[in-house]
Amino acid sequence: MALADFDALVVGGGAAGLMCAIAAGQRGLRVCVVEHANRVGKKILMSGGGRCNFTNTGTTPANYLSANPHFCKSALARYTPWHFIEMVERHRIAFHEKELGQLFCDESSKLIVRMLLDECEAAGVRVETSCSIESVEHADDGRFALKTSHGRLRAPALVVASGGLSIPSMGASGFGYDLARRFGHSVLPLRAGLVPLTLSGKHQDHMAELSGVALPVTARCNGQAFTHTMLVTHRGISGPAILQISSYWQPGDDLRLDLLPGEDALDWLRRHQAERPATELKTVLTEAMPKRFAQRLCDIWLPGDRAHRPMRQFTPAQLQAMARVLSDFPLVASGTEGYRTAEVTLGGVDTGELSSRTMESRLIPGLYFIGEVVDVTGWLGGYNFQWAWASGQAAGTAL
Ligand SMILES: Cc1cc2nc3c(=O)[nH]c(=O)nc-3n(C[C@H](O)[C@H](O)[C@H](O)COP(=O)(O)OP(=O)(O)OC[C@H]3O[C@@H](n4cnc5c(N)ncnc54)[C@H](O)[C@@H]3O)c2cc1C
Repeated sequence: MALADFDALVVGGGAAGLMCAIAAGQRGLRVCVVEHANRVGKKILMSGGGRCNFTNTGTTPANYLSANPHFCKSALARYTPWHFIEMVERHRIAFHEKELGQLFCDESSKLIVRMLLDECEAAGVRVETSCSIESVEHADDGRFALKTSHGRLRAPALVVASGGLSIPSMGASGFGYDLARRFGHSVLPLRAGLVPLTLSGKHQDHMAELSGVALPVTARCNGQAFTHTMLVTHRGISGPAILQISSYWQPGDDLRLDLLPGEDALDWLRRHQAERPATELKTVLTEAMPKRFAQRLCDIWLPGDRAHRPMRQFTPAQLQAMARVLSDFPLVASGTEGYRTAEVTLGGVDTGELSSRTMESRLIPGLYFIGEVVDVTGWLGGYNFQWAWASGQAAGTAL
């Protein structure tokens, strides 16, 4: 089959790959994006409940997990949320801030994919969908040759933007990790992040009847804390607070919940004791959290008749013990729901072997890794797309 020559080949037509291709194409480079799914940007389409939380205006390097927390700084500083917002506004896509700096499309994620494809077209980027890669060769002259289902492609630069392992049904593959290893790169251990946690045994029994209940909590683990909603599911727990903390949790780690976020539990109990001495503890708790949750808390964690005693009957020591249950509630999770539902993959191509300015391999000139395949993972809230845009732009302007 004929060999088509390009200046750069980008594997993966997701957020990072398209962004990189646009930046390189705008500089006059001949770029081809190779996407094995039948359309580009499938994760963009399904993101943010179909409205794509495309960035977060409060993005800082502190919003990312990586073995090297400094690695993401350069790219994030050079391509900020405001750069992406400028593109969104130029394409007249209406958006709004939902909360905490999270920007969503008013209408649909489809508009973001359309915008990226329009930019690709304007920049002369060739996009090959339903195109599978059969082999990757690295010739002595430094050029990369891809044998694909659409023919042979060759270029002096190969950008790996094939994403992580989450949601295999959307085209996720381990391609980028395998390729990195083949070229001598280290891949740091992979695991599902931003993922619901599962409970088992008595811990699941305790929560089982509460499926569907949502309440605000502060979830704490390994020195991180997130205050947001927790949702009890039929297999475990989910909701933004749990998804966020899941990235910091591994089996066996101590995970604690503050069930009265923003309150000092002991002060709160003392206040109620002073102001409403005749009111039952259960009634007081029911006013602070969903009734079913308060009921279960009383049944299991406040045994005997304690929940039905009026507040005045509790000794200071008993109030202290109760405050501990409310502010430092131990949640024993057994695992995660895994890549089937995870929003991201933690770990990935070791940043120690990449340039933080260009994303180029320090081992193989001309080889680049961008987006989620790299060991940089954002919090929930638009940070992962911002990393995809920023790392894509960094490579696209350096190629
Ligand atoms: C349900 C869900 C909702 C999300 N919502 C948000 C959100 O609202 N905001 C946010 O910031 N982040 C969100 N994320 C995370 C975000 O989607 C990813 O972090 C981001 O898409 C990563 O960009 P990427 O370009 O590195 O990878 P991807 O966007 O995953 O793109 C990788 C591309 O490579 C292709 N590919 C893989 N293997 C091959 C191969 N062998 N050959 C050719 N092509 C290949 C894939 O088909 C895919 O198109 C969400 C994730 C999920 C799963």
